[in-house]
Amino acid sequence: MNIYADYAATTPMHPVAIQAMSEALSKVYGNPSSLHSLGQEAKQALDQARETFAKGLNCDPREIYFTSGGSEADTQALTSGAAMGARKNKRHIISTTIEHHAILHTLDHLESQGYAITRLAPDQYGMVTPERVEAAIREDTCLVTIMTANNEIGTINPIAEIGAVCKGRGVLFHTDGVQAVGHVAVDVQAMGVDMLSLAAHKFGGPKGVGVLYARKGMLLKPLIYGGAQERSRRSGTENLPAIISAAVAFRVALEEMEQATAHLIPMRDRLIEGLLTIPHSVLNGHATKRLPGNVHVCFEAVEGESLLLLLDAKGIQASSGSACTSGDLDPSHVLLGIGRPHEVAHGSLRLTMGHTVTQEEVDYMVQATSDVVALLRSMSPVWTDLNKGVTPHVI
Ligand SMILES: *Cc1c(COP(=O)(O)O)cnc(C)c1O
Repeated sequence: MNIYADYAATTPMHPVAIQAMSEALSKVYGNPSSLHSLGQEAKQALDQARETFAKGLNCDPREIYFTSGGSEADTQALTSGAAMGARKNKRHIISTTIEHHAILHTLDHLESQGYAITRLAPDQYGMVTPERVEAAIREDTCLVTIMTANNEIGTINPIAEIGAVCKGRGVLFHTDGVQAVGHVAVDVQAMGVDMLSLAAHKFGGPKGVGVLYARKGMLLKPLIYGGAQERSRRSGTENLPAIISAAVAFRVALEEMEQATAHLIPMRDRLIEGLLTIPHSVLNGHATKRLPGNVHVCFEAVEGESLLLLLDAKGIQASSGSACTSGDLDPSHVLLGIGRPHEVAHGSLRLTMGHTVTQEEVDYMVQATSDVVALLRSMSPVWTDLNKGVTPHVI
């Protein structure tokens, strides 16, 4: 059996998105900036893709900017919000300790440029309440950035409530919606966000294309200078085949969302229940306010990397957390951020599924994980000490 269970890192492309991309590659090769008919045809396809995103997110097409992905959209959102603040002499930004690195590293950069950053610690489930955000807002706060859903533990934040707080206090609000878009309902008006980032490859679209939604009135600061593409906010000839394909993937994800969610939630909960029968294991993230396809657990006295390799040998492609930190020996900042001790955070497993997952596959993942954990523990001196009572169990 082969089970791809790393959807949070990237998803396989939806067949209709592949078809749309391949057709665009051969047929819509004009430059949307060209005035001849082929160029105008490309421009029309670009406009249509923009409208698809605007309709799905509930905004105006002029508020959609195509980027090279989630990281670029995040970087541009934060540097733009910060620049808008600096014009009013406001240089304080609020975020959380468990954001994606595209956010965290942009904040580090802004800090080096003289901005003050408050990084809120989430609760034990990885959630940030509107009250916490409100309490952190100062006279000089210009921007709040809090992710819609976490890429490691899948926890969904109360974004609409946080948006209302920001609006009430006249502070710009950005959300990294990369994990949420295409998986849970996202409406930029209802959420009260000024800016939102998304990436197509997290919902069945191609890699290397994303969107930054920026409300009218936002002064986007370009990261790339050149021609007048994307109303001069993002220069460079548009990656049209990827943009067309991303729009198709987005439309299909929205059409299939209700059915996918209804299928995924029972699968997710069956997988969680099965994995938690393994002794000394714990669920990370919220039990219900979590992404439909996300399962994230820690096992005591198990080394996450070994667990992954052995699961891979059994045909299961999983992750220990975020793809961006693999290869890095420190435990995940998200797990430390929700209060897991180092030794527990090291034994993490993230299984993220698409809506094609079957009950048989879920049961296979439970059995395989259970067998691998038992094998690793049988060879672990840490486990021996725990069982002899030399060291106390943490979970
Ligand atoms: C994947 C991801 C990103 C980065 O998106 P890229 O398209 O890979 O640049 C940003 N934020 C979150 C929450 C993500 O899951």
